[in-house]
Amino acid sequence: MFFKPSARNQPSDDRGPAALQDIGQHSLMRMVFATTGITLGLFSVLQFLGGNYLFAGLELTLTLLLFWGAWRIVGVRNLLPWIYFYLLPTFSFLLYIMVMPQASQTAFVWVYIIPVLAYLLLGRVRGGLLTLPFVVLATLLYLYKYQVVLDSSGLIDLGNALFCGLLIMVFMHLYETRRAAAHRQLQRMARTDALTGVANRGSFQQALEQSIREAERSQSRLVLVIMDVDHFKAVNDRWGHDAGDQALRQICNSLGKRLRVTDSLGRLGGEEFGLLLRNTERRGAEPLVEALRQQINTGPLQYAGQNIPLSATFGLAEWPIDGRSADQLYRCADRRLYRGKQQGRDRLVSRDHEQGESCLE
Ligand code: GH3
Ligand code: MG
Ligand code: MG
Repeated sequence: MFFKPSARNQPSDDRGPAALQDIGQHSLMRMVFATTGITLGLFSVLQFLGGNYLFAGLELTLTLLLFWGAWRIVGVRNLLPWIYFYLLPTFSFLLYIMVMPQASQTAFVWVYIIPVLAYLLLGRVRGGLLTLPFVVLATLLYLYKYQVVLDSSGLIDLGNALFCGLLIMVFMHLYETRRAAAHRQLQRMARTDALTGVANRGSFQQALEQSIREAERSQSRLVLVIMDVDHFKAVNDRWGHDAGDQALRQICNSLGKRLRVTDSLGRLGGEEFGLLLRNTERRGAEPLVEALRQQINTGPLQYAGQNIPLSATFGLAEWPIDGRSADQLYRCADRRLYRGKQQGRDRLVSRDHEQGESCLE
């Protein structure tokens, strides 16, 4: 059982949880650019028909710019500058059409789109912070432009305009807060194994590949350990699947307690787990893994008043001595794990021969 090819070679929608956010944001921006472009294009035709050639030309230029943006946005890594580059002129333009000479009485309704766009593209905090000054400015411009008379009908007009805007802002804020929380939860679920709560295979693989890249940059070492619970089928057969599940949880708990915060633990599948020990070499990792092995061995699972003995076999590989890629490292640790099983289980195998140390030799 080996890792899939590097994440960089995967199609973009198979890159794990991070892709959830990215793909959504890119296609959203594309749609926003395209729809704004179409809207401005229609207005430029109206301006042209009305004889306002300067405005028509300006709007047509912006339309073309937006269509170019919609086409280019797909390959962009950091969307934030693009979003601000779109929102700031758009919002300023929306304020301007409220106060420009011959402004339409209904032009102010466009201000309501400010919180919607800001929250949609920038999220709760940034969206809220950008909305506030524009909405305050829009209110002041409205009061200046329309000289509101404070009689009952004037107050109703003002109330309609202000409270509608205020409610849109509040609802967008609430909606975005809930959406962001649901999204975080979804990302957490996409990264973790539901039974044990440790990283799942995909996210462990990403962590390993990321750590190899970091180790390459910082010239440090790292160790990959693969662990497989011994005779686990017998545990299920004798005590039932629920006991087996509890055993997996207990093993993960006890491993998690011993590992450093910089280390990672992941479930690679079934009763097989991966340990990633960063900034560590073989000699430093061996005593730790040996202690983990003993901990599992001496801490049987207490289930329905009985003690279920547990043990596990470990295969260890060190980067870069035993392999330079995640795949090579995984193969090496897997081979040593298999040898540990053949030699009688409940042990750590961290070398191939007594003298030779490397899988690559
Ligand atoms: P070995 O010492 O050679 O590893 O023997 P084993 O019995 O552990 O290995 P084998 O691969 O034959 O069996 C693995 C068992 O793990 C079979 C499968 O039913 C069980 N298993 C896999 N995932 C789960 C799980 O999520 N919960 C439970 N309870 N059992 C699981
Ligand atoms: Mg097993
Ligand atoms: Mg197994």
